[in-house]
Amino acid sequence: MVIRANFRHIKERLQASAAKRGIPVTDITLIAVTKTVSSEAIREAWDSGIKHFGENRVQDALPKINVLPNDLHWHFIGHLQTNKVKSVLPVFDLIHSLDSLKLARVIQNEGEKLNKKVNALVQVNIGSEDSKFGFAYEEVLPALQEMAGFSNLKILGLMAIAPFFPDPEHTRPYFRRLYQLFNSIQIAGAEMKYLSMGMTNDFEVAVEEGANMVRLGTALFGARDS
Ligand SMILES: *Cc1c(COP(=O)(O)O)cnc(C)c1O
Repeated sequence: MVIRANFRHIKERLQASAAKRGIPVTDITLIAVTKTVSSEAIREAWDSGIKHFGENRVQDALPKINVLPNDLHWHFIGHLQTNKVKSVLPVFDLIHSLDSLKLARVIQNEGEKLNKKVNALVQVNIGSEDSKFGFAYEEVLPALQEMAGFSNLKILGLMAIAPFFPDPEHTRPYFRRLYQLFNSIQIAGAEMKYLSMGMTNDFEVAVEEGANMVRLGTALFGARDS
């Protein structure tokens, strides 16, 4: 029941942020991040009305995905090693963490073998942090241009993890700058449909600055042990 109550509270907060942005809350996709979360808790989230789920490690995700109803939508949000691409493609609807051209090439090859068009977001390292994956700002356009030639890869937007600040207000300039890039991109083949930014600590600021996908773990399921 706590998940249902948490979800209700999150919806109110999303509603308020969407109103500030001047968009309907239905424009925002909530992704429940289920790393370290049991399949029973995921089931409860599903029963509460959540449709989209995110995992960052394929080996942890697959056992849970296999026991859950197959109409849940799965998002891959973690750093993806090229040797794991093969197991990710059949089960995940969207890869948020396309963070290198090398990975793009492997996805293209594996997608071709499966005769599948793979949906992905390009991850941008908006805080230029060594600890985070993703393209630097100036690398995004050349990377998108190169990926436009990959017929089994469909780019649907951008994703970022903001630097952590105890006061989420400090993330605002980072989100704003990414939205400007997102909004300016015009490259044949790349559709700028989803802007995935905002986590438990900063999702309200992210929505105010243009996010239409937020990835929430702690706000929904409580603090993780690890
Ligand atoms: C864990 C994780 C989240 C969710 O983080 P919370 O702060 O618990 O909401 C979102 N995005 C990514 C990429 C993550 O790894």
